[in-house]
Amino acid sequence: MLNQEAEPDDIRPDGTPQGLIQFPLRLDTDHDIVVCTDCCIGIPFDWIGGHMKDNHGLKCNDPQVFQCLNIMTPTMKSEEAQEWLSTNRIIKKAVDGVPVLQGFACSLCSYSGKKRTVLYNHISSTHKDENARATIVERKVQKPFQGHLKQYIQVESGDDSEVEDEDADEWKLKLNDDFTRLVEENHQGESTGNLDLRLINSFIAKIR
Ligand SMILES: [Zn+2]
Ligand SMILES: [Zn+2]
Repeated sequence: MLNQEAEPDDIRPDGTPQGLIQFPLRLDTDHDIVVCTDCCIGIPFDWIGGHMKDNHGLKCNDPQVFQCLNIMTPTMKSEEAQEWLSTNRIIKKAVDGVPVLQGFACSLCSYSGKKRTVLYNHISSTHKDENARATIVERKVQKPFQGHLKQYIQVESGDDSEVEDEDADEWKLKLNDDFTRLVEENHQGESTGNLDLRLINSFIAKIR
């Protein structure tokens, strides 16, 4: 760990930035995570120097990072990020600047991933002995970090989704009404149990 002091020419006596070097960094203040705006990935504070050098050919030290982001204290470090990932498997608000993708999650726990097959593997290994049936559900996912911190977490949508959910419920209610009527109408005619079962199955498939 390089704990060098600020070089005299990094900051002017009045505290304003000296150089005009701009690093492709942005701070998500909600999560205290720095994001590389070029790579669209979160960078733990202790990785910033290395990332800038290796990926962007830019030399930058801690004081310059403080300056660039207008912060006084380090942001989330890699050790903290490890802990954060394990306790934040589902986050309410996406990490700003990191892509949110359509992925999948487990219905019994907070496990999530980008590919359906990853969830199949998870369920068959983690929940194989449980009585409750685990299913794969579609969820928005995000991979906030790379390296050994590479891991998907779920992102709950914001206020917009609540509206969407209400709409979905209404739609389900309407479908339910339609279905009840359909069954009733069907019973008036010459219906068979098999037909009802088929209707029920397609109905269930629709609302899932
Ligand atoms: Zn980058
Ligand atoms: Zn699970």
